Amino acid sequence: MPVERMGLIKKSLRAKFTLILLLAGAAPLLLVSVFFYYMAKDALFKNVFAELRWNADAITTAVEEHFADTGRNLVIASQNAAFAMYYLEPDNRPKWLAEQHKTFRYLRSLYPEMIDEACFIDSTGTEVSRIVFDKIASSAELSSGEERSAFFWNAFKLNEGEVLQDAPTISEDTHRWVLPNATPIFVKGRKTAILHFEIALTHFQGLLKRLVNQDRGYAFILNDRGEFMAHTLLDMSGAGAFPMAISADAPASLRTIYGRMAAGEAGIEEFSSGGKSYYIIFAPIKTGFVKGINRNRWDVGYVISGERVYVEATILRDNFIVVALTFFIVVALAYVVGKHVTAPLRELVGATNRLAAGEMPRVEIRREDEIGQLSNAFNVMVEAIKRRDDALRELAVTDGLTGLYNHRHFKAEIDREVKAALRFNQPLSLIMADVDWFKQYNDKNGHTQGDIALKRIAEVFAKATREVDLAARYGGEEFAVILPQTDGAEAMRIAERIRGRVALELIPFEEDQPNGDLTVSIGVATLPEAAMETVALIVAADKALYRAKEEGRNKVVLAGRR
Ligand code: GH3
Ligand code: MG
Ligand code: MG
Repeated sequence: MPVERMGLIKKSLRAKFTLILLLAGAAPLLLVSVFFYYMAKDALFKNVFAELRWNADAITTAVEEHFADTGRNLVIASQNAAFAMYYLEPDNRPKWLAEQHKTFRYLRSLYPEMIDEACFIDSTGTEVSRIVFDKIASSAELSSGEERSAFFWNAFKLNEGEVLQDAPTISEDTHRWVLPNATPIFVKGRKTAILHFEIALTHFQGLLKRLVNQDRGYAFILNDRGEFMAHTLLDMSGAGAFPMAISADAPASLRTIYGRMAAGEAGIEEFSSGGKSYYIIFAPIKTGFVKGINRNRWDVGYVISGERVYVEATILRDNFIVVALTFFIVVALAYVVGKHVTAPLRELVGATNRLAAGEMPRVEIRREDEIGQLSNAFNVMVEAIKRRDDALRELAVTDGLTGLYNHRHFKAEIDREVKAALRFNQPLSLIMADVDWFKQYNDKNGHTQGDIALKRIAEVFAKATREVDLAARYGGEEFAVILPQTDGAEAMRIAERIRGRVALELIPFEEDQPNGDLTVSIGVATLPEAAMETVALIVAADKALYRAKEEGRNKVVLAGRR
């Protein structure tokens, strides 16, 4: 936009109105929208965080309860008579072995997905009975080298009612990832054996998948070595190494979070992966629910995609569309209102410009407000100017002493009238008059009295002529009358009337004049008889006047034919 146009807008009332309305209308709107935006965003994120927290809590609680339950169940199972009686009634061992098998089968039937294997091992590290899936091991299949394992001794060190929940290991029997659990068995106060079962790790995978709404997000469990114990998006059924979370292809921001999770921390973070943003909540699983030892330092993570969050944010975008729409309505309104307010002002500006150009315009603005008052004042001002103009024009054409038209106006008018008469082929007469012996009157009575006398004679000229005639003071004591559309005979009658009335007029000291009266001599010339143009017409009337003087004054003489 060019600078001068910017200047115009700055000066334009309409632009100002638009701006004011925009500020008054749009500013609160924008303020409210921004407020609404932040409120809605806040609420949205509160919801998201609540969802994150709810999921993380659900998972940690489920895993913690699982650990607690497993421990409890193991201890309860270990108190089954089948195990103690095996030692207390050595003669009845086949019966108690059968009871042990029944107990194992019962346990399996209770938790078929969870307990892969259970076994009873005596203090020498020899297996007494065992179940793998649903199969009871034959005596030939039972092993005798358990005392060589650290797990066995760690379990054997525990007190009554305590449980060892060890880190995951690949089961020798099922070749699956399992969590070994064990509790010591006391017979008559003496630590005699251990009861052991292995929980399939896939159990936690199933637990996660049941707890998490997989349309919303995904969840995983990470151990203190940075390995995934479970993951709703990964297949964890394999027997190979655990998937490592902290790997080279994990985005840097996520690697840091994984590191914190491996360290057992809790938090809520935003991270981006593959150009998309995500929110993660992570929290450690408490180990204290197990009486004894739990070697599983696990951290639960729950992730939802930012896109999921921003689906809800479309409401906010819609809100902005409404704001933009309202903005345009305000602009349109501001324009219309501005136009309505400034239209009469522009009319006034136009009228003022015409006034400056010499016209006498009137504005017709019927309003009660300040603009209405302004236009009324404008009209009054124009009227006043018109009156003063008329007065000035009057003054310009009037003779100061007599009030008749002055010489200049006479000259202008005679030219115009002669031209009109010639064009329309109409007669025009001119009267030239001169006061007789006026020098003498002045000399005897003074110039002041002379002026008074001149005024009286001028009045006779004004009264004795018609509306259409133009009586002027031609010079000192000389008068001229233009008689449009008047032939010689009619002009002679008018001239005679003037002369007669001047003679009849009673003027002080006129009796001292040479002919005992203040009189005028008059010459009359008529167009086209005496002349065909202005100067010649004046000259002709003048000559006739001189003849009137020569013939004794107080006389009217008609100019002869050309
Ligand atoms: P005539 O025309 O009859 O030949 O004699 P006159 O005395 O009128 O002759 P002239 O034209 O010589 O004198 C004109 C006088 O009119 C001269 C001057 O004193 C007088 N006069 C002209 N204008 C004015 C005026 O405005 N006021 C007065 N008081 N006298 C004027
Ligand atoms: Mg004279
Ligand atoms: Mg004279």
